[in-house]
Amino acid sequence: MSINFPKPAIFSSRCLGFDRCRWNGEIIRDRFVEKLKPYVSYITTCPESEIGLGVPRDPVRVVSRNNSYMLMQLNTEKDLTEKMNAFVSDYIASMKEVDGFILKDRSPSCGIKDVKVYAGLSHSSPVKKGSGFFGAAVSKKFSGIAIETEARLTNFTIREHFLARIFTRAGFRKLKGKPLVKNLVRFHTENKFLLMAYSQKHLKLMGNIVANSKRKPAKEMFAEYESKLTEALAKTPKFTSVINVLMHALGYFAKKLKSEEKKFFLNTLEEYRREQVPLSVPVNIMRSYIIRFNEGYLSQQTFFEPYPKELTEIKDSGEGRSYK
Ligand code: SF4
Repeated sequence: MSINFPKPAIFSSRCLGFDRCRWNGEIIRDRFVEKLKPYVSYITTCPESEIGLGVPRDPVRVVSRNNSYMLMQLNTEKDLTEKMNAFVSDYIASMKEVDGFILKDRSPSCGIKDVKVYAGLSHSSPVKKGSGFFGAAVSKKFSGIAIETEARLTNFTIREHFLARIFTRAGFRKLKGKPLVKNLVRFHTENKFLLMAYSQKHLKLMGNIVANSKRKPAKEMFAEYESKLTEALAKTPKFTSVINVLMHALGYFAKKLKSEEKKFFLNTLEEYRREQVPLSVPVNIMRSYIIRFNEGYLSQQTFFEPYPKELTEIKDSGEGRSYK
């Protein structure tokens, strides 16, 4: 199971460890963003610096007026909406393909949700929550891509899902550059268990696309497959589906494991079901069986190592599986 992982292209808000560009001149040292550095290619920007606000600067806030959002600077009372909208649309239009985004939580520019929205500059309490200007535009344009904030990525379920998505997408993008049917067949075969966990329906649809490969030009087939792959990976897999995949894998060793070993594995699955351990725990036990019994077909399955194992971390925000 030694996998050569492609490097996903990840956009990150620049203040998350790349530059002291926050309004107060600070930088945020985020463990996960830092840890990803050797494994991904980062692209960064700071929308507020890019529209010429400088560092340090007076903070900005989102103001809701007549059903539309404005970006206003608190002390100067400048309306920055037009400048920010122009920057955002130019920047997004110039972006190359990316595999995921890590945006600064709750920022009036980069935030994707839970951004405080005020009724005016003099109001001290927000009237609602919404998205930042850059965050909203990214969510709209890249709706099928993994978009998270550094705060949400402290939750292990969200983090595992994010990592699986970005590395799977990067793997597909690598193939897409030179669309050969045999490579797509291999990709589909290796990702069967992973897709089974995400969506049985999409696994079937994508299997049909690959099976009918002779009827269409490769490029067209890759485009169809990509659209289904994006849909399949959009939602966190249900833990019951993940358990089913692991039970399916256990079937490969039905006659090879001692009853105590099966019992131990089933107990660990139960702990995963109760959110007492992350997915990596039962997966690692299964991997040990795959190695021990030299199970060739399972050893190719990305489900058991969808991203570099060095990125697995048990640390968690404690928000649990229901944190959406
Ligand atoms: S949140 Fe976005 S706009 Fe604010 S400092 Fe960070 S990168 Fe710049």
